Amino acid sequence: MTTNSIFSDSATSQGLPMPVSVEEATDFVTKRARELVGELVKQRGREEPPFLAEELAPLQGIKEIVKTDLGDVDALLIRHQDGYIIKINENHHPVRQNFSCAHEIGHTFLHELNRPLGVDYDEFRQTESNVVGRETERLCNIAAAELLMPENIFKKYLTGFGLSVSSIERLAHTFKVSIQAAAIRIAEVSPEPCEATIWRRCQKPRSKGFIGYHMRRPMYIRDPSPLLKAYESDSPVKSFKSFELNNIKKRCLMDSKGFGQGKTRYVISLVFPES
Ligand SMILES: [Zn+2]
Repeated sequence: MTTNSIFSDSATSQGLPMPVSVEEATDFVTKRARELVGELVKQRGREEPPFLAEELAPLQGIKEIVKTDLGDVDALLIRHQDGYIIKINENHHPVRQNFSCAHEIGHTFLHELNRPLGVDYDEFRQTESNVVGRETERLCNIAAAELLMPENIFKKYLTGFGLSVSSIERLAHTFKVSIQAAAIRIAEVSPEPCEATIWRRCQKPRSKGFIGYHMRRPMYIRDPSPLLKAYESDSPVKSFKSFELNNIKKRCLMDSKGFGQGKTRYVISLVFPES
């Protein structure tokens, strides 16, 4: 999900503060997200989800949230002397609006940090500003995930509901996030190694199948497959498949389930390497 912010495109550093590494920035935005959730929990006196971005925003100096038609843009962050305004695209689904708003709060954490992001980049293929832009967006998504699905609380609910693809819908509903955001978070906080892969229907010249990204690599699985079974029913389907992890083939348990309707239907697999 790409969120545009007028700040991410026009940020300049005043003076010459020391660049911050991506790791340091990740620690910082995660820490700030936890502090903000802590403040909300203290204010309302209970720890139960959801943690709505609109409830968190005022605690971070956001004066106003405006819902309006933003065309293709998810959300915007506007800085005024006395605080921020977040504009959210009113045409998007409420859970997407919630995530977009949390993402913009993430940008305010980076403003607090007030240091340029130092990144490694391949000068022949990508410009520094492209890499900085991409990493900035990724950091804001990390902050958004921690704000809406605080690690410890999400873990507690995951353990309660069970580490399986069948828990995704309940977790998404409980934390008011999208199915895909909940699936990615499960993989991030899972007590055992786990990858979440989202599979979409696709057609190659001679076959139909699914395309997904596993460990950031595209992967095609042709029909018939357990994925097709999951796609065509509403029940979870368990299967085994070998995946390459760091050049070593490993047998993995795939726990797959279909979501969505019609043309936008897709399958999510939680992939667990066998120990
Ligand atoms: Zn952004």
